[in-house]
Amino acid sequence: MATVVAFHAHPDDEVLLTGGTLARVAAEGHRVVIVVATDGIVTAVSEGAPTRLDELRTSAAILGVHRVEHLGYADSGHGAILYPDPPDRTRFVRADTEEAAGRLAALLREENADVLLSYDPNGGYGHRDHVKVHKVGTRAAELAGVDSVLEATVPRDAVERLIRLIRALRIPLRYDTDALSAAYSPRSAITHRVDVRRFARQKQAALAAHRSEVNGIGGIALIMRVLVRLPVGVFGLLLGREWFVDAATTPVTKPATGIFPSG
Ligand SMILES: [Zn+2]
Repeated sequence: MATVVAFHAHPDDEVLLTGGTLARVAAEGHRVVIVVATDGIVTAVSEGAPTRLDELRTSAAILGVHRVEHLGYADSGHGAILYPDPPDRTRFVRADTEEAAGRLAALLREENADVLLSYDPNGGYGHRDHVKVHKVGTRAAELAGVDSVLEATVPRDAVERLIRLIRALRIPLRYDTDALSAAYSPRSAITHRVDVRRFARQKQAALAAHRSEVNGIGGIALIMRVLVRLPVGVFGLLLGREWFVDAATTPVTKPATGIFPSG
């Protein structure tokens, strides 16, 4: 039995980028832990109110995840402006990398982690908290001596196809075309392609658990609502694969081994 620790920026990232993989790894008898850097909230957190961390715990339970931890940071937001810290928490992007990596490394040691799931150097689409996950994850793996770091990503061409689909459906979504051409990873860099179609039902239910996101406003929320209402087979076709770059490899696609079989 191996222990896999998945490090994420915000509640809901665990589903979209790695949900099927986590469900599959858990179903195969391995121990799975989610560590989330931020609680997904940009403001102060009011005592006793339901939070996105509660939604994350529900999602994690659906995926069969054994433990969920929050590193204690606030969401840094994704606009042009980086706002001051809320009174009760530091924004993750402003966290001292060494300190944040120390917190994660302590969990990696406690769990005797075999594999750390983190993010690619672009932080996928460039959210400042996702870029920070890459930095903190890389350093924490060094500190804790975890040799296997797999960075969750998406083939860039698949992202471009998705954007075309969203456009065709006339869903309003603001994005920067130039930034997109440098987002995620070229297909040639991807080392692990995980088939998670058998776990589509769990992945879709876990996504639906993020109710404040699904019921939110804006283009992303609209896409989430469409996704959670799709017939499960269609959901599986769209989100039935997950991709990783092995941080230790040169960008050459190799057959995946061990608990992350390819195909
Ligand atoms: Zn995120």
